[in-house]
Amino acid sequence: MALPASINAQTAVQHEITRLAGLREVHVAMEWFRSHEPQLRDWQLEAAAIPAPPFGEGRRAEWLRARFGELGLQDVQVDAIGNVVGVRPPADPDQKLVAVTAHIDTVFAAGTLLNIRREGDRLHGAGISDNAAGIVGLLALASALRAAGVRHSAGLLFIGNVGEEGEGDLRGMRHIFTESQWKDRIGPTVVLDGAATDTIVSEALGSRRFQVTITGPGGHSWSEFGVPNPIVVLARAIARFSRVDLPAEPKISANVGVIAGGTSVNSIPESASMRVDIRSASQPEMERVERALRQAVAEVTSEYPKRTRNTAKGIGCEIQLIGCRPAAELDPNARILHVIRAVDEHLGNHARPHRASTDANIPLSLGREAISIGAGGSGGGAHTLQEWYDPVGRDLGLKRALLAVLVLAGVK
Ligand SMILES: [Zn+2]
Repeated sequence: MALPASINAQTAVQHEITRLAGLREVHVAMEWFRSHEPQLRDWQLEAAAIPAPPFGEGRRAEWLRARFGELGLQDVQVDAIGNVVGVRPPADPDQKLVAVTAHIDTVFAAGTLLNIRREGDRLHGAGISDNAAGIVGLLALASALRAAGVRHSAGLLFIGNVGEEGEGDLRGMRHIFTESQWKDRIGPTVVLDGAATDTIVSEALGSRRFQVTITGPGGHSWSEFGVPNPIVVLARAIARFSRVDLPAEPKISANVGVIAGGTSVNSIPESASMRVDIRSASQPEMERVERALRQAVAEVTSEYPKRTRNTAKGIGCEIQLIGCRPAAELDPNARILHVIRAVDEHLGNHARPHRASTDANIPLSLGREAISIGAGGSGGGAHTLQEWYDPVGRDLGLKRALLAVLVLAGVK
């Protein structure tokens, strides 16, 4: 009796991992992580201490470019949008590259006191885990493979990417997969983001964000009374939009996060605006809720005279897309999922599938295989000034990443 294809695939991958982990050079590479923890810690403190605010990652990129060069990666460069890339060349140049990537930006604005420091065995400061831990993961993999002289069939493309957080809107990964010289040469992608070993992000939580602005003629609250009031129009649109159906499955959320408008209590405002965040792992659901938002605004504003050059007394409206992260799900039979599950089994690690917005959104939305995992150790306080990182157990996370990357790339 034939086994289902997925069970066969899983078993084949398990055998491959056992064989790989038994190779002397792979063993040497895995041991490198534990014996070089002081080096990893120093890199982490150095990287995190260089500010990398949204749209200001240049100095940290230069630092990473220098490290990539020292570690013998080839074609090392900072690309047109600011990503740092470097290649560990393949034994077989016909195979597609395996991408390993970590975002180098932080959520902290320029001028923030990052206060990066070591206290005992723990590292502290803004961005120390998210994503200095991931950056160190890239350097650790490149170093261990070099020290052990591992020859992998497919080349490895190391990428420190920009613009993962907030309004960066994944611009670094978007560039890699839609415009860069690598876009058609990448096979599977492994993303290293933050600490830990207990998750596998294989579902890309998408988001679409809008700024809705309503404008009117404005005026004195007594003498101009009667001209349409943009705040009232906006409030009515919010009330109508809030009636949209948001089912629990597939989960979707819609949030009016900011409203603004008006100047004084005795003025009819000239404008009012809101910011709306729609999130789901289902792209069709996000599109449905976006249509409901547009419809609510259109219906309400249609009840007022339109603001044109001839009728300045009317209401104008603009809906601007201010953020867009595509939603997607990895095929449950994707090889990369079999690989990470088999690696976890081999290492005795327990990890659960997870839905989140990460660098993996971009390759997943293009139908490519990608997962996002932590770079080991533990951390907390992400996106706050109290962020911390504890390297205990880091080597488990790095072994996990190394084995996954090597199975994907192939070692003869
Ligand atoms: Zn992150």
